[in-house]
Formats: sequence, structure tokens, C-alpha cells
Amino acid sequence: MTTNRQAIEASSRVFPGGVNSPVRAFAAVGGDPLFIAKASGCRVTDIEGRSFIDYVGSWGPMILGHSDPDVVNAITAAAANGTSFGAPTLGETELAEAIQDAFPTMEKMRLVSSGTEAAMSAVRLARGYTGRPLIVKCDGCYHGHGDSLLVSAGSGVATLGIPGCPGIPEQIASGTMVVPFNDTKALEKVFETNGPKIAAVIIEPVCGNIGVVPPLKGYLADIRKITREAGSLLIFDEVMTGFRAAFGGAGQIERVTPDLICLGKIVGGGMPLAVYGGKAKIMSHIAPEGKVYQAGTLSGNPLAVAAGLATLRKIKGNAEFYPRLLKITDRIVAGIEDGLKKYRVPASINRFGSMFTVFFTKETVIDFKTAKTCDTRVFSRFFKGMLEKGIYLPPSQFEAAFVSIAHDDEDIAQTIGAAHEVFEKL
Ligand SMILES: *Cc1c(COP(=O)(O)O)cnc(C)c1O
Repeated sequence: MTTNRQAIEASSRVFPGGVNSPVRAFAAVGGDPLFIAKASGCRVTDIEGRSFIDYVGSWGPMILGHSDPDVVNAITAAAANGTSFGAPTLGETELAEAIQDAFPTMEKMRLVSSGTEAAMSAVRLARGYTGRPLIVKCDGCYHGHGDSLLVSAGSGVATLGIPGCPGIPEQIASGTMVVPFNDTKALEKVFETNGPKIAAVIIEPVCGNIGVVPPLKGYLADIRKITREAGSLLIFDEVMTGFRAAFGGAGQIERVTPDLICLGKIVGGGMPLAVYGGKAKIMSHIAPEGKVYQAGTLSGNPLAVAAGLATLRKIKGNAEFYPRLLKITDRIVAGIEDGLKKYRVPASINRFGSMFTVFFTKETVIDFKTAKTCDTRVFSRFFKGMLEKGIYLPPSQFEAAFVSIAHDDEDIAQTIGAAHEVFEKL
């Protein structure tokens, strides 16, 4: 049997840090990452044969749980007909129509292969459409690793504490202005001085990449008003939040309609697929209809489309889906909160729909600055304690935990029981 230790030693010889995405390393918490052999429902099994209740969910996509039979069947059936053609297929249009059901503002869209591509392309489109050079993003929001979006980014950048990324020229980084999340005044100020040059504001409507941070009341509506008045576009990056708390994403819950939307993760059903889209008059600027170029050899890949479509249909076809998912999350969050209270742990939980983060700080976390007041050493002990008890959480204080529809009563009880035992000794 290969152990996780042997596996990471071997992978470290061929991959930087032994992984193919930095967030997979246990850099912030210490120890070796689990090498996963297989997964089913809400459980993952590592190569040492240990089973864990999974709250990483492939960082968001696995809302149905792993190896959902309908999704696996859809992928298998699609694969039997060929894995990629580089030509249009009927499935792509079907998927787009299913997405429009959830996001009616996406009158036209483009399928791509990752959230990075979706956000990067939406920003290029915003610049091409408005003819303006600047974009505004929030401190700690993560929109993939495109050059102009990696400034003050969350997720792995926040976890590893990387201030600015070498390799991104100053001319490119300086085209991105950064404001704190949940700070309307700061945004107004940026618009006062640079308004006519701002192509777009890109934002996670609920920030998930510094841990979960919901918008304060009225914040998104304020951004909508400010961007509209300045003739700038508003881009909602719903790669994480799309289909997470409601079929129509965070924008629907918050009742704010952006100009462009980015989707990823759930929309691909665990396969590499993402989307950007919006009003037809803006999207018509994308090639071949317009002049803003963006392309992809594997875009709209038939296996990924099949997985996405099967996932969306399963969610949409079940009126009980979100009520049940939210109830599962209610119980987990309430159980963990009870434990925090009982053992007087200075921490609190932020939650949006079926994602949550336990922040180990006394402060209310409303932006990256307050998130950074967390004691990451305490988080690390919490993470390791939970892992020892068979609960697999994201290995960073600055990430969201994801609940799936496959977490059942027993999983919930085991998770809460583990949290209480860990808090007692924290
Ligand atoms: C995960 C994520 C991305 C990047 O998606 P990838 O598929 O990892 O490139 C972009 N934006 C948000 C909000 C995300 O959570």
C-alpha cells in the first residue's frame, strides 16, 4: 500500500509542492494532503483506506455528493459517443437553456473550461465593450488566476500570504483597483476619481474565498447603482455561489441584477466546465459575432456538458432540493455553534446557503481585514482534530466548507460530535 507520505514524496518530485493546485497542499495546517482513491456520496476514501466525511466537495462542485449515479451515467453515455469534437453539439444548447432557467439575465453565454477563464474573459469583454481600461475588485475576492485578477486575491493567495504575484507586470496590476468588501464609501471614492475609466466592477456577490462573507444589507444594490451611473459594467462572479444556495444564485437572493455573470464549479457537475454570459447586446461583442476574441479547443466538452446538465436537471427536478440542503446545513451549523458556546471558543460562523466558515476570531468577519484577525494556529488545531475524527474540512481558515445533499443524519451527528470533542480540547 502506498501511504500519503510516500505519495506526496513522489508527487513532489514531479509537481511544485507536490500538487496541481496550491489549495490542495496542507501548507497552512501542516501535514500531508490526503491522496484520494475514490469517493461516493459525502465520503471520500484516501489511498490508506480511511474514509472521511467530506466538506471540501472538490471546492464546491459536488452539491449532489460524489459519484451521483445519474451524473456518472450521463458522463459514461456521452463518452461512448466520443469525448471531444471541436464542433457544436446539441447538449451545449440544452445546457445553456437550463442555465437560463436559473439566470435569465444570461441572454447569451459562452462555455469555457474553468472559472479562471470565465472571469478573465468577462473582464476582457467588459474592457472591449466599454472601451475603458480599469477594473475594480474587492480585497480578498478570488476570480481565478488571470493576470489582472490576481491582485489582492483570496483563496490560496490568502492562505499562503502572497502579497503580490511575481510574473504579473506592474502595467497589468495597475489596471486593477482594489477596495475592501462591504465598503460602499471606498467604492464611491474610487469612482469619484476614476469613474469614466472604469470598465467594470467584478465581485463575488457573497465572498467565499476568504471564508464565507455575505454582503451587508444594501451593499450590492449600492454597487449596482454606482456602476450604472458611471456607465461601468457590474460582473457577478458566481463561480462558487451559483446554484449553491438557490437555483438562481446569490444575485437572485440579494435581488440585484448584474450585467455579466460567471459560473463554474456546480454548473460542470464535477467536470471542467464554466460559463460567462449576460445581456445579448454585451455578449454580441464576443467573436465570432463581435471583435473581442476568446476561444477554447475543449470548450463545451461533451462529457462536461453531460455532467453539468445531469446535475442541473436533478436539482431543478426536485422542489425539495434546496429546502433539504439548507436544513442539513442549518443542523450542522447550529451543532457546531452549540459547541463553540459550550466550550467558550472565541469563534463564530459565517454562512450562506450550504457553505460556511468557522472563523476563529472574536470579531465579526465582514471583509478580508477582519478575516485576517483569525488565529490561524487555532484553526489548524481544529482542522487536524476534525481530520483525526474522520471529518475532512478545507485545509485553510480562508476557505468555505461545502455541504452536499448527500450528508445524512448520521454524517451530521458525527460531524457535530467531532467538533464538540475537538473544541473541548482546543
Ligand atoms: C473557484 C473560483 C474561481 C476559479 O475557478 P477555477 O475553475 O478554479 O479556475 C473563480 N471565481 C470564484 C468566485 C471561485 O470560487
